[in-house]
Amino acid sequence: MSDNEKWHIPAAFRVTPKLSTEKEREILAASDAQQKEWAEKSSFAAHTPSERSRANARIMIDALESVPELSNEQMDILAENYAVLGKYDMAAQTTASAEKNAIYNKYWLAVWQDESEWCKHNEKHKFIKDNIFSVKTGKEETLLACNICDMWNVAPPPKNLTDARQVRAAHRAAMKGKSFNEIKRHYRK
Ligand SMILES: [Zn+2]
Repeated sequence: MSDNEKWHIPAAFRVTPKLSTEKEREILAASDAQQKEWAEKSSFAAHTPSERSRANARIMIDALESVPELSNEQMDILAENYAVLGKYDMAAQTTASAEKNAIYNKYWLAVWQDESEWCKHNEKHKFIKDNIFSVKTGKEETLLACNICDMWNVAPPPKNLTDARQVRAAHRAAMKGKSFNEIKRHYRK
């Protein structure tokens, strides 16, 4: 077989406007069914980008949990993937960094806090810090923060924060100080 021939699609799999035989139709139907099955198995079959990133996180967690001894760097990657699933308690226990442990704990408390709790500062200091998956509600929620006292809570954003300009500002704030991989992960949400 020459290099050229190697890449020829077998006649039965070529998409042809008219399928002459019952056999050809059967083979194409079988191929379509296989493609569909692969798509369903793949994380890319998830409905939304955030579902996709959670599906990817589950795959990463399975892979890392099966490694007998993880390096600190791998522990941090495992922690970040727990966080994608909203499992900030697991993330806090897993990270090798004291600083990240404190941040994951802060997320975890914010998730479980009553929605109505807030500091005494004026509403104009409230901003959307992050979009997260809440294990409490089982869906994506906004993490609100106060830019004076750094109070956090997971709650529906006030209307003034949902206009496009505010959402862009929140996005820039959420990206600030993040590594390339963290930003990439964020965009996959
Ligand atoms: Zn405050």
